[in-house]
Amino acid sequence: MQGPYSGALIALTTRHGKELALSRVFAAGLGARLQLCDHDTDQLGTFSGEIPRLADAAATCRAKALLGMEAAGLSLGLASEASFGPHPAMPMLPVGQELLLFLDQERDLCLIEQRLEWRTNYSHLLLEPGVLPDAWLRQVRFPSHAVIARPSLPQAGGMFKGLSNHVALAEAMECCRLADPDGCVWLETDMRAHCNPTRMRSIRRLGVVLVRRLQTPCPECGSPGWGLIDTQAGLPCSECGTPTELTLSEIWGCETCGARRSQPRRDGRLSAEPGQCPWCNP
Ligand SMILES: [Zn+2]
Ligand SMILES: [Zn+2]
Repeated sequence: MQGPYSGALIALTTRHGKELALSRVFAAGLGARLQLCDHDTDQLGTFSGEIPRLADAAATCRAKALLGMEAAGLSLGLASEASFGPHPAMPMLPVGQELLLFLDQERDLCLIEQRLEWRTNYSHLLLEPGVLPDAWLRQVRFPSHAVIARPSLPQAGGMFKGLSNHVALAEAMECCRLADPDGCVWLETDMRAHCNPTRMRSIRRLGVVLVRRLQTPCPECGSPGWGLIDTQAGLPCSECGTPTELTLSEIWGCETCGARRSQPRRDGRLSAEPGQCPWCNP
């Protein structure tokens, strides 16, 4: 396979099995191999229940990638970062923000792909004595997605992570009830990637987008990494022509030389439904 990263070795910083989501994508798309660096900074409990600003999440992700690159002595690195919490504009809706960052020190290239994941199972539950969590467990897709149990009073005792079968969960809940002064149990979803297939799918999707971008050279300078960096709203209404919130055009660009090109939507759509128009359907 020909390409800028064919045969390359890329450091992947993870302790949570993210290579399962990314190795094949990078091998098939770029001919690159991932070298695992068992040095993860996202310890349990750092999922704080808030979505940080993108710039802050990106800085954390970059630091994580650099840790792995230093440990492995490689100039190429990959790391991912996630956070979960209420949607900033719609507090009733939990969302996940997934980030995947690629660093190439020789080319001085840093690419970030990110997505808001609406299908996240992120949730928690305070369980009173005598109440069964069955409905909640179905909602968070247990046992395919693992959960965490602890006494409702955090000081009261230990935490049981990665619970992914009914026997282990029942035992953990019993321990937590006995340790808690009120007999209450705190349950939450275990968001670590290896415990959460929904996250694994998100990470793989980001990997596909990132690889496609690394396959695409900039039309101006030839550097890898040409891709979508922004969208411009204003797709006109099909009835009255008023610009809507929908994407009118895509801005593609190159991080290396700063080239930018505006191009029509990839789906070829030229107008919006009147239902989405602020004039026809305010
Ligand atoms: Zn360029
Ligand atoms: Zn209209």
